Amino acid sequence: MHPERSSAKATTTPTKYVFLFIGDGMSYNNVALAESYISYKQGKLGGEQLLFTTFPEFGFATSHSANRRVTDSSASGTAISTGSKTNNAMLGVDPEGNKLKSISYDLHEMGYNVGIISSVPVNHATPSAFYANSNSRYDYYSITEQLPGSGFEYFAAAGMINYYGDDDENPKDGADIMLEKQGVNVCFSIEEAKEAIKNKDMMLVCQPYNKNREAANYDAGGATPADHISLSQMVELGLERLTDEKPFFIMCEGGEIDWAAHSQKTFPTVLSIIEFDKAISVAYEFYKAHPEETLIVVTADHGTGGSAFSEDPDWEALEKIWIESGYKNNLNGHENREMNKKYNFDWSTGGHTGEPVPVYAVGKGAEKFAGSMDNTEFKTKILGR
Ligand SMILES: [Zn+2]
Repeated sequence: MHPERSSAKATTTPTKYVFLFIGDGMSYNNVALAESYISYKQGKLGGEQLLFTTFPEFGFATSHSANRRVTDSSASGTAISTGSKTNNAMLGVDPEGNKLKSISYDLHEMGYNVGIISSVPVNHATPSAFYANSNSRYDYYSITEQLPGSGFEYFAAAGMINYYGDDDENPKDGADIMLEKQGVNVCFSIEEAKEAIKNKDMMLVCQPYNKNREAANYDAGGATPADHISLSQMVELGLERLTDEKPFFIMCEGGEIDWAAHSQKTFPTVLSIIEFDKAISVAYEFYKAHPEETLIVVTADHGTGGSAFSEDPDWEALEKIWIESGYKNNLNGHENREMNKKYNFDWSTGGHTGEPVPVYAVGKGAEKFAGSMDNTEFKTKILGR
């Protein structure tokens, strides 16, 4: 058996303020790609770091699911939130379909306020794994219907997939109307969000441009509309809503990292990770004000795209094309692959990768996240059991 670290037993209760950041598809190599770019921007060959890679504790988590060597986001999200493996495409339930309990509910019952944040739709796999149970991650409308019952104080995301349900026989309310009827204040601007915060409503913040429509085609890392609410702003609004008066648990997903990496779009992948890092820096400011009572854990659910460093990547050439394109990679798959190849950006798959994901942690209880672990261990490590 593995030797045990003596510090692993130190904490027996959860830290008062807990942030769990999940970079969807954020393999170690994708992080390395982002750091290569920021080093290039400083005129260096390497050595520049994102904030979260400077955190004192570092580990790796294995991420296989109950039925696949390479997981998807719902099985991995379920493992992280409930501590149990399930099959790919299953959400918050075991392989037989029995409901599992998300850490959000454990902490909510212990008096924690809960915030669920994602840059992609709120009913997408990772955020849903923290509030819903479903035999299929693709039952988007019924997953959304479970959101109000959670009682969690704060949600923020791009919007909702399957906004109107898909049952033509029984047309449904728009997802926002359905949620409002059940007591969730659905906000489509920062102003509306501020009002909901004042009223201490249960609330869901969505991107203004996704009002009355699907959020499936969220455009990652490109030119975003002027009224776009950044992931950092979503975390800031969450801290305003939850405050430091009560303990809280915030799960924040950088979801578009995965979407960009599936398309092997180098620039959007890198920029999504930089955006994710900015959101983490909001939590880090909170940590600096409450260093003895805050834990920040940053990890990924799986890798995506299989990016690799094999030759010297040419950032200068790639950045030039990115700027000339008006900050949008509209190349088709073939053109994109050719461009990556030409400038030495290697990607091996359009799918997920199965190597262990990186884990970074700072704050009270952070030492438990050093070394090797499985993704089913996050829950007990956070709960301090
Ligand atoms: Zn994916």
